[in-house]
Amino acid sequence: MGVHEVVVVGSGISGLSFAWCAAGAGKKVLVLERRERIGGCVYSRRSDDGYWYELGAHTVYNSYSRLLDIAVAAGLADRLVRRGPARARFGLLKDGRVDWLTPPRVLLKLNWLEAALCGPVGIFRGKEGRTVEEYYSGLVGRGNFRRVLSPFFAAVPSQRADAFPVSGPGSLFKKRPRREEFPRSFGLPGGLGEICAAVAAHENIEVRTGVGAESLRPVGSGFILRTDGGEEIETRVPAIAATHREAARLLRDSFPELSASIAAVGEVAVESFGARVRRDRCWMPECAFVVPVDDVFYSVVTRDPFPDPHWRAFAFHFRDRVGREEKIARVCDLLRVSPGDLEEPAEERTLLPAPRIGHAGIVAEIDRRLEGLRLGLTGNYFQGLAIEDCIARSEAEWERLKARG
Ligand SMILES: Cc1cc2nc3c(=O)[nH]c(=O)nc-3n(C[C@H](O)[C@H](O)[C@H](O)COP(=O)(O)OP(=O)(O)OC[C@H]3O[C@@H](n4cnc5c(N)ncnc54)[C@H](O)[C@@H]3O)c2cc1C
Repeated sequence: MGVHEVVVVGSGISGLSFAWCAAGAGKKVLVLERRERIGGCVYSRRSDDGYWYELGAHTVYNSYSRLLDIAVAAGLADRLVRRGPARARFGLLKDGRVDWLTPPRVLLKLNWLEAALCGPVGIFRGKEGRTVEEYYSGLVGRGNFRRVLSPFFAAVPSQRADAFPVSGPGSLFKKRPRREEFPRSFGLPGGLGEICAAVAAHENIEVRTGVGAESLRPVGSGFILRTDGGEEIETRVPAIAATHREAARLLRDSFPELSASIAAVGEVAVESFGARVRRDRCWMPECAFVVPVDDVFYSVVTRDPFPDPHWRAFAFHFRDRVGREEKIARVCDLLRVSPGDLEEPAEERTLLPAPRIGHAGIVAEIDRRLEGLRLGLTGNYFQGLAIEDCIARSEAEWERLKARG
């Protein structure tokens, strides 16, 4: 049986940032990742010729202070690149037509009479206990919300965000101070996956890919983690950074109440389809993304903010259970290309939390059940889906466990 002081399950940004904290405190950390690659939702697809695009998370800001701290400490400060002009152009797709917009022009899409009638009342209603739809419909009117804001908000968490809580745990937008010494939004020459790779390269961190955790049980003053290959690993401090559903499964036998609290988190599956296309084949003006008012996908994210002379790439984030043929047909229709133009197509299915009103209560209950346990629990189902929210949770969990000694 292997013995490791800290074992992390899952190598998404939550698991890696937890491992980073523990490794920084001098602990030897083992990270187990079920898939053959690290990063989870941070998925920079790379081709043999070095071209890359983001099939998962794509946009990070200088308000992601914790992410920046990690990037700088991992030696990546010189590799942070400002996103190019295409970042400020995006499309709103309705009835087969794309309206090309810039941030100020989005405001022109609003019906101002409707907004004027709603705003003065909505502004005083506050955010507490309200959904995104209730709050913003109160500000700009229900019609404006449905036609303009809702499609854009769906592009942020890659799902309809109308029923998300507008404030507190699980909310989309959080006020964070910007670090003006860094570009407002940025990437890296090989994609955001470079940050995950740099963390995994820490001398105190060992990552094993292709190894899933199967069960976790308390034994004496520690835990025994069993892998899907039947190996038993003994650890004093396990941290589960898998998806909420996997976390609930892993804890079901030994911590049934904790598991049940986690299982109460709402969820949605997103199916991403990406490909690169030769630049001269694609009609679409350079843009950051396109969002539809109503379609089988939530958003199309491009690599145009990091332009390449020969290639462009598009990651479509589809609703659950759209067949492969239908996806390809929709992609080709919008890009006006034939299936043969979609080079190195890639697909990824992701299970995401879908926070609803009451999410804060679920998180509070999970934390109450965790109290007193030397077991770390982190992920995108606590503070929010944003990468920065995941890191914030991991840091807080590491501090809690450190304080327990
Ligand atoms: C398409 C898309 C676009 C996004 N865009 C952005 C964006 O632009 N900006 C932003 O801030 N956020 C964005 N997000 C959200 C953000 O990327 C995610 O919420 C965050 O990366 C989740 O990290 P995580 O580590 O909590 O979970 P995950 O990334 O899901 O990682 C969990 C990991 O655990 C592994 N695992 C699961 N079960 C086991 C097991 N039993 N044993 C071992 N390993 C296991 C999984 O394989 C996975 O690698 C986006 C998300 C998606 C899906």
